[in-house]
Amino acid sequence: MEAAVEPGNLAGVRHIILVLSGKGGVGKSTISTELALALRHAGKKVGILDVDLCGPSIPRMLRAQGRAVHQCDSGWVPVFVDQEQSISLMSVGFLLESPDEAVVWRGPKKNALIKQFVADVAWGQLDYLVVDTPPGTSDEHMAAVEALRPYSPLGALVVTTPQAVSVGDVRRELTFCRKTGLQVVGVVENMSGFVCPHCAECTNVFSRGGGEVLASLAGVPFLGSVPLDPELTRSLEEGQDFIRDFPKSPAFPALFSIAQKV
Ligand code: ADP
Repeated sequence: MEAAVEPGNLAGVRHIILVLSGKGGVGKSTISTELALALRHAGKKVGILDVDLCGPSIPRMLRAQGRAVHQCDSGWVPVFVDQEQSISLMSVGFLLESPDEAVVWRGPKKNALIKQFVADVAWGQLDYLVVDTPPGTSDEHMAAVEALRPYSPLGALVVTTPQAVSVGDVRRELTFCRKTGLQVVGVVENMSGFVCPHCAECTNVFSRGGGEVLASLAGVPFLGSVPLDPELTRSLEEGQDFIRDFPKSPAFPALFSIAQKV
């Protein structure tokens, strides 16, 4: 018999994956979103917690912008982004009056909201909770790790682009994981080459392979290289389900296989 779920906490969640990146714009929210979609297509129940408080982009990527979060006896009910209710999402974006509103809060207020997102959201039974974090290692990361630690297994997935400068930032992320005792699920190299839609030749716009070398030097798993893919950009802008609708796209095989390795 399955253990009863304490309402309003994460007791019913089997795996928690914190998605980290050294800097912004490397595709952290993209990987969080596509990982959730790929896990859903593999039959898993998935939650996404968006703690990128100053740049919440997941509601837009999943076409859930403007949806309202409701209260129930056990806390906030997350927004279900699909009809089957297999992906639930909680984001500060749902609490703002308009998508253009800026979150101008000091650390303690941000930390309090993250703790509330963990303790007061009725997540229910989930196979995976994917946590999208802000870039770098800030107060928000410490708050998230502290709040989530009692609910392990808690792991980190680190996203980088192939250039040396981004890879250097990732070293700091890996140090953060070591210092906070976070297990590293693996490194993903994003924007790794561009496959020409006309001739299928791959151009390494930002060089290639830095993420894999770094993972091997750090002794952590390398989960895959996701190419630059205009169909992926478009599907995210339009809030489409890339995993369901673009199985022939260059980025699909890598994204699908990453979800099988976490
Ligand atoms: P971050 O969360 O690291 O700030 P985002 O996930 O918001 O970065 O990605 C930044 C932009 O790059 C978005 O417009 C996204 O659609 C695009 N993008 C990310 N990864 C890819 C990719 N592999 N192919 C094409 N576009 C991508």
